[in-house]
Amino acid sequence: MFADLHLHTNFSDGTYSPEELAGHAHRLEFKAIALTDHDTVEGCARMTVACQQNGVEFIPAVELTAEHNGHEIHVLGYYLDTANPVLLTRLAECQQVRQDRIRHMVARINDLGIPLAVQDVFELANCRSPGRPHVARALWQREFCGSIDEAFDRFLKKGKPAWAPKLKMSTQEAIDLIHQAGGLAVMAHPGLTRADELIPELATQGLDGLECFHTKHTPTVAENYKALATRLNLLITGGSDCHGIAKGKPLIGTIKVPYSYVEKLKTRVTERALDRGLLLASNSSR
Ligand code: AMP
Ligand code: ZN
Ligand code: FE
Ligand code: FE
Repeated sequence: MFADLHLHTNFSDGTYSPEELAGHAHRLEFKAIALTDHDTVEGCARMTVACQQNGVEFIPAVELTAEHNGHEIHVLGYYLDTANPVLLTRLAECQQVRQDRIRHMVARINDLGIPLAVQDVFELANCRSPGRPHVARALWQREFCGSIDEAFDRFLKKGKPAWAPKLKMSTQEAIDLIHQAGGLAVMAHPGLTRADELIPELATQGLDGLECFHTKHTPTVAENYKALATRLNLLITGGSDCHGIAKGKPLIGTIKVPYSYVEKLKTRVTERALDRGLLLASNSSR
């Protein structure tokens, strides 16, 4: 019994539709999966149906971009109320910044003499939460570069000419935003973030968990983060961070997190709801 708690669809920068992703989860015999699209929960409605049809347990989630002490920190939110108005308003703002950022990045690429049309990027992205991978794919499709990696290396990486910032909320805001929507806040891929010294501080901000298992973490790195999570009383999570087909094959299936970790997430979220009186209210209204 395994889970993958970090997956993207074409509602952000993944290439699979919710139905394709649920189909892969079924084929790989996952018991549970979470959808963690960047700055959007729009894919969760279709994932709920698709996972039900495939006999896979579905966990609604999101991946936010936050910042603390100058470090970009990705914060995953699990078991969110995807209709929470405060959450949806803030996500809409993040999406607006993402769309403005695409125009800005394409303008910088045009300044370099490359006639990429912004409309081509938006058409390829076909979602409200576009990102750099869409610009890279459009550049590649129009043969302005030879590969996605080349697009990042030449234009899109931080410090390269077409790089532009995203909306970055503070980690405290990200954690509070997830909590007020009933969710659990988890720091994504700490091994990629390389700001381990900040993790105890994030725990005091209310962080609930640490993504110990990730495609970019070696087994040793994962073990070290598990020990740190245990020390700080943080929940342990993990996922493949699959964005669809990349370099020939998808990442889904490469990380298989024991389902017992999902049970611990569920226990924590139920305790939290009890604390907030939400369960009491809903029981008395039945
Ligand atoms: P954005 O959210 O628009 O800043 O884009 C970040 C996403 O781009 C990440 O989630 C990765 O999927 C992808 N990405 C970041 N760096 C690279 C890279 N060097 N090559 C390919 N994809 C990348
Ligand atoms: Zn991504
Ligand atoms: Fe991330
Ligand atoms: Fe991700």
